[in-house]
Amino acid sequence: MRTRLTLAAAAAAVLLLAQPATAGTAPFGSAGVGDPYYPDYGNGGYDVSHYDLRLTYQPATDQLSGTATILATTTEALARFNLDFALAVQDVQVNGRQAKFAATGDHELEITPAVPLAKGKKVTVVVRYADVPSSRKVYGWTGWQRTPDGGVAANEPEGSWWWYPSNDHPTDKATFDVSVAVPDGTQAISNGALVGQSSKLGWTRYSWRQTKPQATYLATLAVGRFDLDTTTTTTAAGVPVITAYSRDLGEYEGAARASLERTGEITDWLATQFGPYPFATVGGYVPNVPTRYALETQGQVFYSPKVFAAGSNTSVVAHELAHQWYGDSVSLERWSDIWLNEGFARYAQWLWSEHEGEGTAQELADWTYASRPAEDPWWQVLPGDPGPDNQFHSAVYDRGALAVQALRNAVGEQAFFAILRGWPAEHRLGNASLADFRAYAERISGKPLNALLDSWLLTPGKPAPGTATTPAPAGLAKAATPQEPRSWKQIKATDSLHAGH
Ligand SMILES: [Zn+2]
Repeated sequence: MRTRLTLAAAAAAVLLLAQPATAGTAPFGSAGVGDPYYPDYGNGGYDVSHYDLRLTYQPATDQLSGTATILATTTEALARFNLDFALAVQDVQVNGRQAKFAATGDHELEITPAVPLAKGKKVTVVVRYADVPSSRKVYGWTGWQRTPDGGVAANEPEGSWWWYPSNDHPTDKATFDVSVAVPDGTQAISNGALVGQSSKLGWTRYSWRQTKPQATYLATLAVGRFDLDTTTTTTAAGVPVITAYSRDLGEYEGAARASLERTGEITDWLATQFGPYPFATVGGYVPNVPTRYALETQGQVFYSPKVFAAGSNTSVVAHELAHQWYGDSVSLERWSDIWLNEGFARYAQWLWSEHEGEGTAQELADWTYASRPAEDPWWQVLPGDPGPDNQFHSAVYDRGALAVQALRNAVGEQAFFAILRGWPAEHRLGNASLADFRAYAERISGKPLNALLDSWLLTPGKPAPGTATTPAPAGLAKAATPQEPRSWKQIKATDSLHAGH
């Protein structure tokens, strides 16, 4: 699902970053936040607090148009700044005045306000745009999936460029109002609560509100013919459950519903593992797309129908809902911290298996460990720093979950579950890094953990059995061959979650 940053693109990004400030005037905001994996993702010089997107989408032509109003605060004086965006722009205003703008780089919208901006000031940026998102390719692809009845934006790490301008990095989280007009009989789905729905002259406008900070890649938009249900049920804790199914799911419909209709129950169970659910709504939608992955779009999970090709799969629901704590509420500081998302979401699938009586986390760890010989190059991928090309490699998931089991065995049940529950509270609705997690786990457990975590996350090769670094000093089967847990195939069916687009 992610594209490769070509060497040429990386070099161009470095050049953009190296742009000197003009002497004696306000500087230009950088074209990236400096993420080592994606140097030109996000932008420097300002923090966004809110996106207001008022859009119109016509499924027949794939025409998306509208206005993005972005509220931000400058973190430095700015003569110029960037947004990340791939669509054609008609007009930009900054603080109510016409601004100059230009499309530069691979996905940059460079904006020059009429008056340079001072540091620490509130700024309002209005961008009017109209384009056909499926026709806009960046790095050779478009993240906008056109469907027979509409279109969908749900991708990682690049998803926003094809439907709204943003500061596209997980460190700049913001609240969202997304209001989309679509032809009557068609629905528009985004994150959070549906706060308005009204029809006029053949068009229906759906207004969605996300009141909790949200990373840009976790914002989603889907337009199509859906059975949308926002009112039937809540979790035991009272969180409204929202579901939407394309009316054209065909053979996948039963299995998709049999999985997503357990969203409330699985959310309640996850809350017993990770603490209170962090957002105001929870749910998921299944659009009519041909892809095979799912994505933890905030409070409103995206599922491809083919995720349910082999029948219902509650494991994938557990995975994506686990991300609401590990990834969405507590977001990455840098994309290299991806283990904090995928290692724990995969581990949640192991815990769910244990809960469902289909194999314990330890049995899944034993089987995972035994299933690949030491010479398998798979063991060369480091979950703690996989590199951009391997960010969603299966080792980040499986070896990542082995690292979590190793942690559990090293610190004991009580400290482990205190960490599992405490971490999302410690960094609720914020950002955190791998280094932050190490320090936190050591503090809660009172044990040195660097050697253990290094061996599982940052050391090439298969950790040797029978050492302190194996997942199960007590449980790793040494004599008998581990047995395949009953949940194994269902969990493996979720391996395509983030593989290829
Ligand atoms: Zn995931």
